[in-house]
Amino acid sequence: MSEVALALEAMATRFELVLDGGDPVRLRAAGEEALAEVARAEAQLSRFRATSDVAAVNAGAGGRPVRVDPRVAALLAGCVALARLTDGAFDVTVGPLVRAWGFTDAGGAPADPAAVVRARALVGIDGLEVDATGSTIRLARAGMELDLGAIGKGYAIDRAVAVLAEHDVPRALLHGGTSSVHCLGHPVTAGAWTVGWSVPGAPPEARRLTAARPALGVSAVHGRSFRGADGRRWGHVLDPRRGAPTQAAASACVVGAASTLCDALSTALLVHGASWRDTLSARFPGYEGWTAA
Ligand code: AMP
Ligand code: MG
Repeated sequence: MSEVALALEAMATRFELVLDGGDPVRLRAAGEEALAEVARAEAQLSRFRATSDVAAVNAGAGGRPVRVDPRVAALLAGCVALARLTDGAFDVTVGPLVRAWGFTDAGGAPADPAAVVRARALVGIDGLEVDATGSTIRLARAGMELDLGAIGKGYAIDRAVAVLAEHDVPRALLHGGTSSVHCLGHPVTAGAWTVGWSVPGAPPEARRLTAARPALGVSAVHGRSFRGADGRRWGHVLDPRRGAPTQAAASACVVGAASTLCDALSTALLVHGASWRDTLSARFPGYEGWTAA
């Protein structure tokens, strides 16, 4: 059995794809199409690309509705629903706060309290107006800013996995920056893919990915973070309700059917901490989450 391995630099990270179980030439073609879909999703969602739908929406904040690709409108309609279903922990309007804490394109820094007050006035899901039928988006106030960093990788992976499924790829493992993982089928030598989830200084915990739960998302404080004067690590996931980096957990992992949801829900679980695990499973049947302190 010959394996095909492909990689793509996208969304400020590395996507890697391993395919197996068929003609290597066909597998490679399917894999390349799947990674091209990741690149297309990035071109629509990146706030750093002037030509993306999300950049256009941000540039038009406070103005008229902006027409976007119907898939982007559907994704943002989902983000509005997710803000409510996560009790405000997952909020794609968090952009101004991410900026105030220096995480937009750097490793973060203690925020000026006055800047946090100004940013908080520009964050809130009520200010994101989505017309999914007409495929238009509007941010209600000038200075508002969408940031899809907490859902984009998972969403891109779901689109790529749909391409692999169209090509009847029987076995594959795809990840984006190791924090979003999705499998198809199972390895030749085992009944399920097993993925390790670890926090610095602790041994990895194994998570089994099955046909019913093929996706895993991880969100963590470490990585893009800085050490505060208090000695604690302040990371790039913000609690929108407090206007500050979450301290509720060091890492959160969610397993379920779709990568988009695993990505968004692992971010929400990191914001809420361990006490939200049961709520997560109750509101999202088939999804399960864990946290590390
Ligand atoms: P993730 O690693 O999936 O948890 O995504 C974290 C990224 O999403 C951050 O780097 C920010 O760009 C953005 N972000 C931070 N806090 C939130 C939040 N509470 N809700 C949605 N997006 C967030
Ligand atoms: Mg996420």
